[in-house]
Amino acid sequence: TLPLRSGNDMVEPVLTVEGLKTHFNLRDGMLKAVYGISFSLAPDEVLCIVGESGSGKSVTAQSILRLIDPPGHIVDGHIRYRDKDLLALSEREMEQIRGDRIGMIFQEPMMSLNPLHTIEKQICETLILHKGLKDHDARQRALQLLQQVRIRDPERQLKSWPHQLSGGQRQRVMIAMALANEPRLLIADEPTTAVDVTTQAQILALLDELCQKLDMAL
Ligand code: ADP
Ligand code: MG
Repeated sequence: TLPLRSGNDMVEPVLTVEGLKTHFNLRDGMLKAVYGISFSLAPDEVLCIVGESGSGKSVTAQSILRLIDPPGHIVDGHIRYRDKDLLALSEREMEQIRGDRIGMIFQEPMMSLNPLHTIEKQICETLILHKGLKDHDARQRALQLLQQVRIRDPERQLKSWPHQLSGGQRQRVMIAMALANEPRLLIADEPTTAVDVTTQAQILALLDELCQKLDMAL
């Protein structure tokens, strides 16, 4: 597990979740996937949510970014990112928060990586879209991001395809993409489940190091 750095009570939380309830209206009844979770997170804090499979961890993470689609609904609660009430934002405003202020990485990197695009293309796409960088600058920044997540031989890896990378390398690419827009908060949904134990330890150490270096909550 990650070392927990205790938040300073005097600091405004970067994220506050209060009484969040997310339900799924299924054919055979209503599934209360998340039933009133509350927590808050200081800007320099690492918070872990632990629970058995099916207890609502992923639905909580998806709810924060408003990625819940019907038949799922957030039925109650508040989600605040800094001074913004995320449940009150328009979809357009939410898009700017997603992937920009708040980054997210998932359990299975292959789900978030496009198998038809090189690593360079996927990272640069985000940078061009969100940061308005020109091709050359985007490539330089992509290289820098791969170095930041300690990928060996980043020049070569930029040209590779997702299936050519090991599970650990793919997870690092995912982290690099999540960091592209310098988020203040990174939501990681079981970021190490898909990799072996040695790699798990390395990824957790990397995340911890990045949080400290980049002033990011996790
Ligand atoms: P965890 O991540 O803690 O393993 P989840 O958040 O994925 O658990 O799931 C919580 C509950 O919500 C589970 O019972 C799961 O089956 C249900 N659930 C999650 N996503 C959906 C969905 N899209 N449609 C219906 N039920 C869902
Ligand atoms: Mg899950």
